[in-house]
Amino acid sequence: MWIKTRSNDQLVADAKALFDKHFDAQPVGVWAAPGRVNLIGEHVDYAGGVSIPFALEQNTAVAVATRKDGKLVMVSDAADEPVSVDLAAVGPGSPDNWAGYVAGTVWAGLKDGGIPSCAGLSIAVTSDVPVGSGLSSSAALECSTAVAAYELATGHAPDDAARARLVKACMRAENEVVGASTGGLDQNASLFGKRGHALELDFSSGALDLVPFDLAARGKVLLIADTNAPHSLSDGQYASRRGVIDDVQEALGAGPGATLRDIPDAVDRACAWAKDTGRDEDVVRRRVAHVVEETARTLEAAQALKEGNLDRFAELMRDSHLSLRDQYEVTTPELDSVFDAAGQLGARMTGGGFGGAVIVLLDQDKVDDTVAAIESAAKDRGFPEPTFLVALPGEGARRLA
Ligand code: ADP
Ligand code: MG
Repeated sequence: MWIKTRSNDQLVADAKALFDKHFDAQPVGVWAAPGRVNLIGEHVDYAGGVSIPFALEQNTAVAVATRKDGKLVMVSDAADEPVSVDLAAVGPGSPDNWAGYVAGTVWAGLKDGGIPSCAGLSIAVTSDVPVGSGLSSSAALECSTAVAAYELATGHAPDDAARARLVKACMRAENEVVGASTGGLDQNASLFGKRGHALELDFSSGALDLVPFDLAARGKVLLIADTNAPHSLSDGQYASRRGVIDDVQEALGAGPGATLRDIPDAVDRACAWAKDTGRDEDVVRRRVAHVVEETARTLEAAQALKEGNLDRFAELMRDSHLSLRDQYEVTTPELDSVFDAAGQLGARMTGGGFGGAVIVLLDQDKVDDTVAAIESAAKDRGFPEPTFLVALPGEGARRLA
């Protein structure tokens, strides 16, 4: 089954209609921010690595009006109840539901100055980004809120410098208010995405380069297969993977300007540290090896893309999946089933793992057969029916109406 995506006009109309249903006022405008797909470079953003995501054409849209009562009133067609919170009451763990992504963004933006002022907002949310599928519906929600709040405060759209500050606000919302660790990959992609391009993000230097990614011209397609398998234990597992890397980085003296990839013999030194501190040496070896190798692999992948060498890129995708399966251990049987069914094509899980989606780089004329193979593999093993999307690089967060 294919995932439905609305036109921008429809998204605007639906956001306005939802606003109209819940609020007496008129919205000032409608802003949107996309989900993202990460082509390669997984679980390295919090370790000074490199990732190559692009912004999807699937967006979250927010219809927004200002208020003067110091409240944020938020409604989403994906949530049951509207949520109302005093701006002064927003902070770590509050609000403790989906609205934490929205309110947390405004809170963090006000604290850091990324959003200069806010006396209250009414916000209606509608989204085409699959939730909890590793395509970053959370960043889409934060970033759409961020550009709306920024423009309502300043009277103009954010430039690149302002966007960089909004990335920080959105990350803080997710890390501090929601309490989910995120390394900034998602928010950068959602705020800086450009049609027809992927982004090469270097988390060590902070550099952000556009890489042409026009698959159609090469007769190729990037297929996303969402496993629809329920996430379980995802938060604790993500945090535990990250915790090992954070500890290793600290023990090895990594920091600004000297991340894991700059440390010679990082894997051996991490093993020695594990031994000294009574940790499981084999686990530490595999976790650190993934981060070091995935970063090197992603740098090579960026080069392959720039040279138009999609065959090499596909090989690197496969290697990435195998490392995430065997070394980082974040895949699930459902993700591995899609990977196996996509066979010899370039395929890998995308996002944090423990559920979510697999991307497949393939020739346009192989889409139908590949979808059928993935569906029948899931059926044979009693897994949920996967859903599909053809991913094209779209624009980053912006005003729609
Ligand atoms: P992902 O970002 O991969 O989709 P996350 O677990 O990081 O998965 O974020 C999903 C959470 O974000 C949801 O559980 C919900 O709290 C929130 N969210 C995302 N999109 C929406 C939306 N349109 N309406 C309400 N909440 C949303
Ligand atoms: Mg997320």
